[in-house]
Amino acid sequence: MFSTLPATLVFLMMMAGLFVPLEAFFPARSTKPSRRAMAMGAGLLVLNTLLMQWLGVPVLSALGAVVTAPATRSLGVMVFVFVAADLVGYFIHRAMHRVPFLWRFHKLHHEATELSWLDAWRQHPVDFVLHGIAVGVPGALLGASLSDLASVVVLRKAFTTFLHANVKVSFGLVLASPVFHGVHHSADPRDYDTNFAGTFPLWDVLFATEHERHRRLVEEPRPDGPAVLVPEGEGTASQPEDQVLAGARLEPQHH
Ligand SMILES: [Zn+2]
Ligand SMILES: [Zn+2]
Repeated sequence: MFSTLPATLVFLMMMAGLFVPLEAFFPARSTKPSRRAMAMGAGLLVLNTLLMQWLGVPVLSALGAVVTAPATRSLGVMVFVFVAADLVGYFIHRAMHRVPFLWRFHKLHHEATELSWLDAWRQHPVDFVLHGIAVGVPGALLGASLSDLASVVVLRKAFTTFLHANVKVSFGLVLASPVFHGVHHSADPRDYDTNFAGTFPLWDVLFATEHERHRRLVEEPRPDGPAVLVPEGEGTASQPEDQVLAGARLEPQHH
């Protein structure tokens, strides 16, 4: 198997090459993440990927061996595995918010104050490995190979990196987006425990956790920097700038 560390560093450089210019030229908010926050994201990216390799992969291989499903590799199966992984990812994410023991690990992800692409990787190792194993289970049960599962994980993480980028992009309810996921990170208690989906907002709609706030965000021009996205009718005059879509969630109200 290819070496995980060099592959992780190449992935990190590719993500930086894509998102650093995008955030520089099309920012949704004028705030910038601290160097400390960026270093934490990059460090956790490397650490968590290695831990997934050492802990998560053996668990998924053992599961695949027990089930002894015939090896399957067709586009249809891979699409099904990707969609099933996203559904499982939705529920494990909800559990992270609902179960106090799990929230203890997940809250690190929500402590980011100026959301940026590297915050996708700001995950406690327990959060990262549990999530990684959970989303790999449907594929392992269906007999997907480890390399196919790895492709699904890399694709998911690349998309998650995009979800945290400080860019003005929304796809409504078709696909998750930085605007959609930004509501999940909002410091406003009205937004808590909403928009859990990693790829398909459909899960939030089906299970009644979608917050419609991301659907009616409007641009509000600011004299001192780029326009920011705020909910219609709620100007930044009444709410601190950037709290709306990228504030740290300091009070975990997961009940
Ligand atoms: Zn969360
Ligand atoms: Zn997030």
